[in-house]
Amino acid sequence: MKDTRVFIQTYGCRMNACDTEIICAILRNAGFSLVHDSENADVAILNCCSVREDGHIVALDKALKLKQFNRSIKTVLCGCFAKLVDSGFLRSNTNIDAVVTPESYREMPGTLSRLVAGDIGFIVSNEISDDLYQEILPIEYLNIPNRALILGKGCNQKCAYCIEPYTRGAERYVNLDTVMANLDVLFHRHEGGIVTLVGHMVDRYMCAGVNFAMLLREVAKECERHNAWVKYLSSHPMTYSDEVLSAVSDCDNVMRVVHLPVQSGSNEVLNRMRRGYTVEQYLETIGRVRAICPDMNIVTDIMVGFCGETDSDFRQSVELIEQFRPGEVNVYAFSMRSNTYAHRAYVDDVTEDIKRERMQIAFETASRIRREYMQSELGIRQKFMSGAMSETNGRDFTNIYNRTYSQRPGTRDCGENLIVEGRLGLENNLFTVDI
Ligand code: SF4
Repeated sequence: MKDTRVFIQTYGCRMNACDTEIICAILRNAGFSLVHDSENADVAILNCCSVREDGHIVALDKALKLKQFNRSIKTVLCGCFAKLVDSGFLRSNTNIDAVVTPESYREMPGTLSRLVAGDIGFIVSNEISDDLYQEILPIEYLNIPNRALILGKGCNQKCAYCIEPYTRGAERYVNLDTVMANLDVLFHRHEGGIVTLVGHMVDRYMCAGVNFAMLLREVAKECERHNAWVKYLSSHPMTYSDEVLSAVSDCDNVMRVVHLPVQSGSNEVLNRMRRGYTVEQYLETIGRVRAICPDMNIVTDIMVGFCGETDSDFRQSVELIEQFRPGEVNVYAFSMRSNTYAHRAYVDDVTEDIKRERMQIAFETASRIRREYMQSELGIRQKFMSGAMSETNGRDFTNIYNRTYSQRPGTRDCGENLIVEGRLGLENNLFTVDI
């Protein structure tokens, strides 16, 4: 397979980005060449997201363009979206030559060989596997300096609107040895930077007697030795424990940012969403966070237009973020996904016009709160981490991140991610700034 050149494009969340690392390692170990340029590829793998209803459209568009440019290129669609695909999809999307589900990445080399040999139009799906690919260490970390390690996959919460429990299965976690081996590979390539521990429910991590707080302390210790910072996502308001908060508070290099999605300020909507908490319980968690880690940047999500959401429900969401004033609010509109509880039990009865209107109101509120949060940091001396350097119109720029920097899948970089003019000597380096 030495002569087969493979291009990979990733869409969606950090989980998909981590899966791309695993696919790269499997293919390199099998002798395939990875290329960064689709024009020189024999096969293009499109690692595609299922979270939004239209998430796959951009990947299909890419497949069309690839085929227009290079008629002999073969295309593979994988990622969590692959779980939703059947043979009818392949018949109506002829620019996709094969589909590989997330549990079947070990079969990627065989799939590519079949394609190169001329076999097309098939799905590779290992239904009973819950493979975490633990022993496959990444060969290249693609997201330098923000590198991600998968702690686990799957989610048992089964929120009514969410496709992830269907596409990613039940919760399962990698062991601490695997996490430490991944860190070794990562720091062998680059010291410093930000290491993000990724899982659908990181606080529920439990493997061989090690819980998330214990793991976080071990990872922080190792990262400290390599001048790196640690963060994690996502957390759930009902499982984000005092033990984890104490670990954050004790470890100087664990970033002061937590993603605690609230989704709605209405108990009726939260109940229909099956989120597993009330507004009062959510606020109790926020109180604990602020008592133990007063400098924590709390990032939350508000979903507008969920099935049955009334004007009054929506107003309660806006009032809630006004009340607890998170550092960042990600606002998005509900879109119905098949294979979810909401699809079976509810009607998507909030019109697109109303969703747009509510999005606008929530955005404006979120932006105002965000500005106030940022202004409150003026005059404070903070540590920053330098990130990637780039050149535009002959001028050098460097990304820098502070300890409350947040980066959520599907959003633009936010938090204190600044771009400064000039080169800061080293990438992934720590320095101090007066804001
Ligand atoms: S907690 Fe809910 S929204 Fe998050 S991954 Fe699990 S089911 Fe989906």
